[in-house]
Amino acid sequence: MNRRADYLSALGVEDWRQRRPLMMGSALAPAISPAAVPQRTGAAEADSWDVVAAEVSGCTRCSLCETRTRTVFGVGDRQAQWLVVGEAPGAEEDRQGEPFVGRAGGLLNSMLRGIGLAREQVFIANVLKCRPPNNRDPNPEEVAQCLPYLERQIRLLQPKIMLAVGRIAAQNLLATDTPIGKLRGHVHSFGTAATPLVVTYHPAYLLRSPTEKRKAWEDLKFARRVAAGASA
Ligand code: URA
Repeated sequence: MNRRADYLSALGVEDWRQRRPLMMGSALAPAISPAAVPQRTGAAEADSWDVVAAEVSGCTRCSLCETRTRTVFGVGDRQAQWLVVGEAPGAEEDRQGEPFVGRAGGLLNSMLRGIGLAREQVFIANVLKCRPPNNRDPNPEEVAQCLPYLERQIRLLQPKIMLAVGRIAAQNLLATDTPIGKLRGHVHSFGTAATPLVVTYHPAYLLRSPTEKRKAWEDLKFARRVAAGASA
């Protein structure tokens, strides 16, 4: 088996080559035009990665600072074209200070490898930089306090594409309560830079519901096409 097949096998997707293209492909062409693609301009005003990182590491904007072990700023290539956004650190991420290092992280890595991306080639961050106790959902106040950090990271990165993994990331980034099933399969637009944003399921959900992995694989291929189409 080749490496690509290994990754797909790890994802639990074995016979993808036989499948017909889904509707998602045909929806793509009108949704993305080169004119809509944000240009990468290099340095971003006065803000910097180091400044944001320092603020995050000392953050006391919400009560999660009282229960966290470590803040989880994000990891990866600060010039990446892909930004992957999850929900919030879990227990292992809280211990290590890095996003997606637990079981869900292993699956996320496999999903990315499936479309030819190494973890190191993308930037990975979360909506929340601190772990909610017992992995409960982030509350609106926590999101309101923390989202500006992610927005600053996005302005610095200027990604070509954003992949929102899971309902919490998708709904908060898109400021909607539309169910994730309806958010999948569309190219959304994030922020004033109109960054293309694609939604897929959270790897932790996929670990609990392996039959949904096939849909996630379609989402990832869709995102890859969006990224390819978005390169002017
Ligand atoms: N789940 C997330 O959404 N983010 C992480 O960093 C880990 C698990």
